[in-house]
Amino acid sequence: MPNSVTPAEIEAAIRNVPDFPKPGIQFKDITPVLANARLFAGAIELLTKNFQPGSVDAVVGIDARGFIFAAAAAIKLHAGFVPVRKKGKLPYQTHEQDYALEYGHATVAMHIDALKPGARVLLIDDLLATGGTSAAATALVQKLGATIVEAGFLIELKFLNGREKLVGFPVRSLIAY
Ligand code: AMP
Repeated sequence: MPNSVTPAEIEAAIRNVPDFPKPGIQFKDITPVLANARLFAGAIELLTKNFQPGSVDAVVGIDARGFIFAAAAAIKLHAGFVPVRKKGKLPYQTHEQDYALEYGHATVAMHIDALKPGARVLLIDDLLATGGTSAAATALVQKLGATIVEAGFLIELKFLNGREKLVGFPVRSLIAY
C-alpha cells in the first residue's frame, strides 16, 4: 500500500506536554502518531527510506519508545531487532555504558551476543535530545564490532546539539524543533 505521509503531517500529530516529567521539560508525546495507522506506517516508511529489505542486519532500538519504531522498521527491512535497555532489565550477560544526564548519570545495556561483528546496524529512537542516550547505544554497538550505517529519529531537538555526539555515520531526523 503506497503511503505518502509527510513529516509535517506527523509533526501535526505530536502532542506537546509542558512540564513533564518535570518542570521546564516540554515532552514530545508520540502516542497520537502511533494510534493513527496511516501516520505510524508513514513514520516507518520515512525512517527506513534509505534502505532496501536485506540491506541491514539489525535495527537497534532504544528503551522504550525507540522499541516501537525500531521493531516495525526491522520487520519492514527483513532485519533482526536488538534492544538497548536500561541497566538491570536484560536477563543474560550484558555490556553496559554509562552516560551523563543533566543531573547525575544513567546506564544502558545490550546483550553481549546481540550483534555479530561486522553487522550493519540501523539505530532508531523516537527523539534525539542531548544525544547522550544514542551515543551510549552507539558505543555498545561498536563494542560488539558492528557498524552503524545510519541513526534515525522521529524528532530532533536541534538546540541541544545532540548530533554532535554521533560521529562516523549519517544522522537523520524526520522532524526538527
Ligand atoms: P538524550 O539522551 O538527551 O538525547 O535523550 C533522548 C532520550 O530521552 C530519548 O530516548 C527520548 O525518548 C527521551 N527524551 C528526551 N527529551 C525528551 C522530550 N522532550 N520529549 C520526549 N522524550 C524525550
